Amino acid sequence: MTNGQRRERRLTTGSALLLAATFIGAPGRAAPQPAPQDARADPALIEELVAANRILGQQGIFDGFGHVSVRHGRDPNRFLLSRSLAPELVTADDIVEFDLESRALNAAGRTLYLERFIHGAIYRARPDVSAVVHSHSPALVPFSVSSVPLRPVSHTAGFIVDGVPVFDIRKASGITDMLVSDADRARRLAGTLGPQPAALMRGHGVVVVGASLPIAVGRSIYLEMNARHQSQAIALGGTITYLDPQEARRVMAAGENGGYQRAWELWKRNVAAK
Ligand SMILES: [Zn+2]
Repeated sequence: MTNGQRRERRLTTGSALLLAATFIGAPGRAAPQPAPQDARADPALIEELVAANRILGQQGIFDGFGHVSVRHGRDPNRFLLSRSLAPELVTADDIVEFDLESRALNAAGRTLYLERFIHGAIYRARPDVSAVVHSHSPALVPFSVSSVPLRPVSHTAGFIVDGVPVFDIRKASGITDMLVSDADRARRLAGTLGPQPAALMRGHGVVVVGASLPIAVGRSIYLEMNARHQSQAIALGGTITYLDPQEARRVMAAGENGGYQRAWELWKRNVAAK
């Protein structure tokens, strides 16, 4: 299928959804409001976001749950995020635009992720952030409930040199269903994240941010790996020599794993070949 055909199919599907939503009425959901022509997201950015969804699935960071977003390349007050869908099933047709209140601008009746508020709150609080990952990254969850802090074991996790804060939703919002499913909870989570690259969510998972999709995805993968390494080192017994803060700062000064570009190209090829 050529790019033109693919685009045409995307447009046809979009129109069909719009039409269906008009007939069904889609009560309680965002009204279809297509973005202005001049602010439409770059199809190449959408493809990168689709790749990020699949990479994080293939790498075991996402299972059926988890989501990744990117700030809109032509409007910093918007971001792109899939409709509610298992990440490895996401295609370009599933990407929805949101404003920074996490209100969908072109949902056309589609169901949205309950925790979409995480993304808008972080983009509002962090102008330096262009990509946000929320996952239930398996090796990280133990560190979200333990008094043992997550610390950098190897150079690829040098980015957590200043620590990884833990968001305890019970302290922030009382007894909940543990989901960051409204603007207030999301604002509190963004407050806990502060200027850091990641925050653990107690008994739940993690948010990881970056200045680009490759950085947020790369950090998600290497943070999970670091948690595994740290747990294994603790299990060995003995004392652990963590990365020296000065070593970690040099890793960051040297460009943080090359901005993950080399790995990003490989990860993208691997998901494209599937
Ligand atoms: Zn979650």
